[in-house]
Amino acid sequence: MATTEKAVAEPQATNGQPMLKVEDLRVQYGNVEVLKGISFEVHAGEVVVIIGSNGAGKTTTLKTVTGLPELLKSVRGKITFEGKRIDRAKPDKIARLGLAHVPEGRQVFPDQTVKDNLLLGGYQRRDYMEIGRDIDRMAERFPILGERRTQLAGLLSGGEQQMLAIARALMSRPRLILFDEPSMGLAPLIVKQVFEIIEELKKEGKTILLVEQMAFQALGIADRGYVLETGEITLSGTGKELLQDDRVKEAYLGA
Ligand code: ATP
Repeated sequence: MATTEKAVAEPQATNGQPMLKVEDLRVQYGNVEVLKGISFEVHAGEVVVIIGSNGAGKTTTLKTVTGLPELLKSVRGKITFEGKRIDRAKPDKIARLGLAHVPEGRQVFPDQTVKDNLLLGGYQRRDYMEIGRDIDRMAERFPILGERRTQLAGLLSGGEQQMLAIARALMSRPRLILFDEPSMGLAPLIVKQVFEIIEELKKEGKTILLVEQMAFQALGIADRGYVLETGEITLSGTGKELLQDDRVKEAYLGA
């Protein structure tokens, strides 16, 4: 797909200002520009999906939004979260503002227990009584984590670690959750469960930015989506519109 034409009209803005606004974002690794001026936005309560194949720049996009220090000096453009500029902010400040990241490959702390991983997710909170209650809530939402509360996270299966990574992100009571390819390396049944959880979070009114290679499943739960190809956004539209777009079908849905 080499077009820069929009699939449909520009995404419809929901009420008010976007929660997250990314404008003309450019990022380099060394001399190589891997994000070439991308712009997108996420409004409160939306599930926004960025689909793209290997190496398109999905992970770099999320790492930049969360303020990964090694990228900082090469970042150009503007990132605004709830009206505040965050493109020069440190990761802990960005986390305090209410962004939580479910990283590629889960990245749970393998030598810590499930409970300690969850506590680490809430490390910036000071409402200690509520933190304990949230751990119980996570155990209810993800019963397997409740059963394995005292086990080392490294002993969990890939799917269980993905649940833990999601629960850990929820422990910070985020305003926006960023998911980096949560389906990666998981069996189809587990992938289905992961997407069901994201859908549940959406129903609860959470705001979600999801980057994925599994275009069909991701667009199926998206309010809006963008297609990222070698560092450029080439298409955008509602999830439904993108699912029906011939260029998306051909490139990502095996049509
Ligand atoms: P994947 O699905 O494989 O994770 P992606 O869409 O998330 O792909 P990125 O990981 O953001 O893509 O990578 C974008 C480009 O930047 C790729 O060409 C990749 O090889 C390159 N890249 C990523 N990380 C680095 C790095 N630390 N140093 C140099 N180049 C990098």
